[in-house]
Formats: sequence, C-alpha cells, structure tokens
Amino acid sequence: MGELSRMWRETDHRYRMVGEKCGNCGKVYFPPRDICPTCHRDSIGKMNNVEMSGNGVVVSFTIVHDAPPAFSRQRPYILAIIKLDDGPTLTGQIVDTTPSEIDIGTRVRSVFRKISEDGHSGVIHYGYKFVKDQ
Ligand SMILES: [Zn+2]
Repeated sequence: MGELSRMWRETDHRYRMVGEKCGNCGKVYFPPRDICPTCHRDSIGKMNNVEMSGNGVVVSFTIVHDAPPAFSRQRPYILAIIKLDDGPTLTGQIVDTTPSEIDIGTRVRSVFRKISEDGHSGVIHYGYKFVKDQ
C-alpha cells in the first residue's frame, strides 16, 4: 500500500507540464531548454523550471487520416499547433472532440493520456494531449 501510494505521487509529479523560464529575458520555453536561444551565455544558471498552465488557443490544425499503426484505433485525429497562455507554441493532438468543433481560436487545455502500450513489457507511455476547453 505504501509502495503504491509512493509510485502514484511520482507519477503525479511527472504528469505536470513543466517548461523553463529564462531568468534573463523572461521568455518561457516548452519543452524545457538548458540555455535560452536568445540570451545564450547570459542565461546560463538562470533557467528555472516553471509549471505550465497547459491552457492555450488553437493557432492552426490539421486532420490526420493516415495514422501510424500505434494510433490506428484513434484515426482520424486532430493535430494542432497550440499557443499556450504561458508563452510557448507547441504541436499537440486534440482528443475527445470532432473536427467540426475545432477552429482557429478555439480554447483548449492539456490533459495526460495513454499514448501507447508495449504489449511485451506491459509498459504504458503517457503524454500530454489537449481537449476543448468548455
Ligand atoms: Zn533569455
């Protein structure tokens, strides 16, 4: 029981969306970077972890019909470029919605979902996806 709850806490920690903020210019990066591409050496030792809100807006999107085998159960799917309120822009899959509900400017928020499962080892991989913000 103690072992289980400890694992859950570690998992829970991993499931937060954490980026990096440059202490020199204030720009936020996701995924995290060790060095700010704008400030270069001035940012060394000044990059700080910052938790993303995970909220953002759809900048552009595409409907992917030709999915690789690992995604075959969920095709077609929506792949969008999302500008986070936190600053960074990233590419992510939008789930739990139909393409007709998504448009440029649609607000979304991040969720953590199972991405793939390794049948041999039983390892399940999780990652962030986005859902429409109601
Ligand atoms: Zn910087």
